[in-house]
Amino acid sequence: MIPPEKTPADPRSALEDLERRLRTAEGARLPEVPLKPSAFPRGSFVLIAGPCAVDAHLEETLAAVANLGITWVRAGAWKPRTFPWSFQGLGLDGLRRLRDVADRHGLKVVSEIVSERDVEAAAPLVDVVQVGARNCQNFSLLRLLAETGQPVLLKRGAACTVEEWLGAAAYLDGHVPVTLCERGIRGFDPCFRNLLDLPGAVLAQRLGGFQTIVDPSHGTGIAGLVAPMVYAARACGLDGAIVEVHACPEASPSDADQALRLPELRSLLFGLAALEPAPIPPESPRRPRELRVP
Ligand code: PEP
Ligand code: MN
Repeated sequence: MIPPEKTPADPRSALEDLERRLRTAEGARLPEVPLKPSAFPRGSFVLIAGPCAVDAHLEETLAAVANLGITWVRAGAWKPRTFPWSFQGLGLDGLRRLRDVADRHGLKVVSEIVSERDVEAAAPLVDVVQVGARNCQNFSLLRLLAETGQPVLLKRGAACTVEEWLGAAAYLDGHVPVTLCERGIRGFDPCFRNLLDLPGAVLAQRLGGFQTIVDPSHGTGIAGLVAPMVYAARACGLDGAIVEVHACPEASPSDADQALRLPELRSLLFGLAALEPAPIPPESPRRPRELRVP
């Protein structure tokens, strides 16, 4: 059978051309592509902060996040863990609690739905559905989420190429607003939990036209590297960051080593404010003709 005709706007054309274009001098300059509908507002660097999981310190952590003027909060109700004996999260009850605490503090919620089984009950409780790294290429989950109408934050799989990540995003594109999240790929150095791929994030952003943010908490696994990587993401034109923060990291049932303390989150906010670009000055008035240098 002859495959259907492709239009220039067809995402398939862009993906199939990816490798060839990147190896040519012109392709490597990354053409601008039209911006697609995004899960978070565009126009400024978005910062999402919250604990790894819904836990006993949720109220305290979220109150502090809200006090810092942050709008978007994260916390996992279902935790995808390497071992079945590790803390698995509080499930739907935890998500209901997250919604309640967030509402009381005027916060918007990003939270992961791990299983198709929970989509119907969980999707209405969040503002943005997170698809975790392990589910990046779970195509039946992606197809189901495409039907919910809820915006999706699509994390990159730890072993996904940029092309595979954009291919996964194509399952959602045109159905729901999508934001990509680079959260580190599998590296070789055990110092790091993952290797935060900043050029991969910029490449995905430019080729796909998706709003693209980074997760330096999972992307490094080291709390002290979170702020520098957020600044780096900001400097390379990415659209935001999602970071883990905890009122008392020692008490966190998961990912304690990568959680910022509240004063560290505060100083990250100050640092980001200092990086904000200077406002563009209004166009300078035209000099009178007679004063022009010939
Ligand atoms: C998370 O953000 O809670 C999480 C589990 O991240 P990832 O899917 O990137 O490992
Ligand atoms: Mn975590």
